[in-house]
Amino acid sequence: MTPLAVLLRQEAFADADIIRLLGLTDPSDCERLRRAAYDLTTGIIGDKVHYRGIVEFSNRCTLNCRYCGIRRDNPTLDRYQLSMAEIVESAVWAAENRYGSVCLQAGERRDWPFIDFVTECIRLIRARIVSATQPDGASITLSLGEQTLDTYRRWREAAGGADCMRYLLRMETSNPALFAHLHPGGFAHEKGYAARIQALENLRTAGFQVGTGGMIGLPGQTLADLCADLRFYQRIDADMLGMGPYILSQGADMGAEGMMEPAPLLQRALNMLAVARLVLRDVNIAAATALQALAADGRERGIAYGCNIVMPNITPRAVRKAYQLYDNKPCIDDQPTDCSACLEGRIRSMGRRVGWDEWGCSRHFRRRLGLALPDRPSLSAETQAAKSVHVGIPLRRGPARTDPAADLTSATDRSR
Ligand code: SF4
Repeated sequence: MTPLAVLLRQEAFADADIIRLLGLTDPSDCERLRRAAYDLTTGIIGDKVHYRGIVEFSNRCTLNCRYCGIRRDNPTLDRYQLSMAEIVESAVWAAENRYGSVCLQAGERRDWPFIDFVTECIRLIRARIVSATQPDGASITLSLGEQTLDTYRRWREAAGGADCMRYLLRMETSNPALFAHLHPGGFAHEKGYAARIQALENLRTAGFQVGTGGMIGLPGQTLADLCADLRFYQRIDADMLGMGPYILSQGADMGAEGMMEPAPLLQRALNMLAVARLVLRDVNIAAATALQALAADGRERGIAYGCNIVMPNITPRAVRKAYQLYDNKPCIDDQPTDCSACLEGRIRSMGRRVGWDEWGCSRHFRRRLGLALPDRPSLSAETQAAKSVHVGIPLRRGPARTDPAADLTSATDRSR
């Protein structure tokens, strides 16, 4: 068997290698995987983490995905819809606090009033957010499910044709049988496997930066399934990934099927993030908030395993409790300012810095479109110094270290 140290230096991986890496459990092996992913991120993407301020603007959904806490047939939920002014003001707040990007997320609707509402939100946000620090305005990520090509085009055009529009449409799983299990019966026509792939292709046709991803640790999901997910992301040439652990929701319809124990689930999710970085290399990868539901520092661990995007929740606090896709969702009671204040320190403790006022476009997207790319990612002086002695980063929260030798010791000790 190829020694792990040799395997982690490869630039291409066979399926058997990927499955082996995904299944690592020994702490020192997991630490080697983490280090490889973190260092590759530094080398290809740089040391900046970019924010996407997420506005969960409605929990009304016409669909019924079995794993989801805000599915249509959950009768226990108070449904809400933010006004256009509330959404735009949230986006303006994000820009004033130097987030270069916002994400609008809601349950899935395909009716014309909804399509027109989103179109107008995009237009207003793009019109309002232009400043000296963000002369090109904000970039916007949409996470609004499967829509027609015409709708995708309409939403992108509402942004003024700029290359600032991203869309996150998770495949959830590339295993057709598992996909059908998650979206069964009477609404299969609404959430069909082929329709999801077609929607991803339509997003590319419409000119979006295309993000996808899936759940990790689903009941019945194997390591081979996760490997197939990575191959799927490669095949559709994804620009960004949003992947998170599968966590039970009381409002969902899968309670009887259970979920993995938190500790092994967290490690599996982290392994998936790291292997995604090694395999897909220059894509943006988000550290899902769901990681924090498994460990207080879960999101930081995601950064340590190769993520370069975080999505602070800037939804007005009054409605946050009603957007629980899964149980124990973190930061429910925080104000946007609370999240912002604690997050930068956490990111710095991971040896990273925040890319303030920047869109943080996927390098993969820019390369795919032949757009200008810096030759090398810019690195802070601290990261340059750390790289020169091959220093890893601490896995626990704490102040950023300035003594590289101390970092080396702590990273090694803490991994055991
Ligand atoms: S996953 Fe999305 S489309 Fe499915 S029920 Fe939840 S909000 Fe609706």
